[in-house]
Amino acid sequence: MRIYISADMEGATGIVSSCQTDSNESEYSFGQKMQLHDVKAVVSGALDAGADEILINDSHWRMINLDIGELGFDSRVRLISGSPKALCMVEGFEGADAAFFVGYHAKMGTPRAILDHTISGVRVYTISLNGREVGETGLNAATCADGGVPVALVTGDAALCTEARELLGDGLVTARVKDARGRLAADCLLPEESARVLREAAAEAATRARDGRAPRMDIGDGTYDLRITFHNSAQCDDAAIVPGVERIGGRTVRVTGRGMTEMMRWTLTLISLAAYIEK
Ligand SMILES: [Zn+2]
Repeated sequence: MRIYISADMEGATGIVSSCQTDSNESEYSFGQKMQLHDVKAVVSGALDAGADEILINDSHWRMINLDIGELGFDSRVRLISGSPKALCMVEGFEGADAAFFVGYHAKMGTPRAILDHTISGVRVYTISLNGREVGETGLNAATCADGGVPVALVTGDAALCTEARELLGDGLVTARVKDARGRLAADCLLPEESARVLREAAAEAATRARDGRAPRMDIGDGTYDLRITFHNSAQCDDAAIVPGVERIGGRTVRVTGRGMTEMMRWTLTLISLAAYIEK
């Protein structure tokens, strides 16, 4: 059984502020430590349930947060480190029996959700896929589904767990390590307890994956209408320069096509272009 782990940081145990997730900030080493903590707990759970191969993709910011030297010595486990990557947070998911999304956060605009955002907090206001508003969980789950891979486990705060279950249904295993009191404060499990919760959830998720019970996001017939709304019209001016991109509003562009790999590349391209920040 091959398990793929997409590891973000904002949803990890104890993290409540961007000063813990930004490599230029003072508390970043705490963020690294807790991302590693949650990933190791999930790896242990997947191995408990009989995983033969685990591929971890560091999925936060510059994607060089996880210290490979701290992941132990196990020939079944590998790490994708670094960026850019064509599929970003789900680079390398192909061929897995199930994907786990670990340390994830809720989509932009979610109340009582730690560091809610969608890919870029300063650029993206909303993203919709076939008329449904999605965050990183939705985009990445759709990409996995398009490639035939279910999502068996999502971990993060309570709001993220609710968002993930709405997308993927009750067959999804979620592990809640904190309950946000606002965007920058949460009631958190202590690390020893969250490690137990994460390990047990990962074992259950891997068992469901092995039995063919892990859910795949409903992606219809594989034809997509992707809309990105930026924070301001200048960012949209930048994104709308690309041939084939349709501008449908002051702050919104639309692209259509087949295949989530292509849609994900559009998403990353348009957000990268929309760099303008008003001075
Ligand atoms: Zn992140």
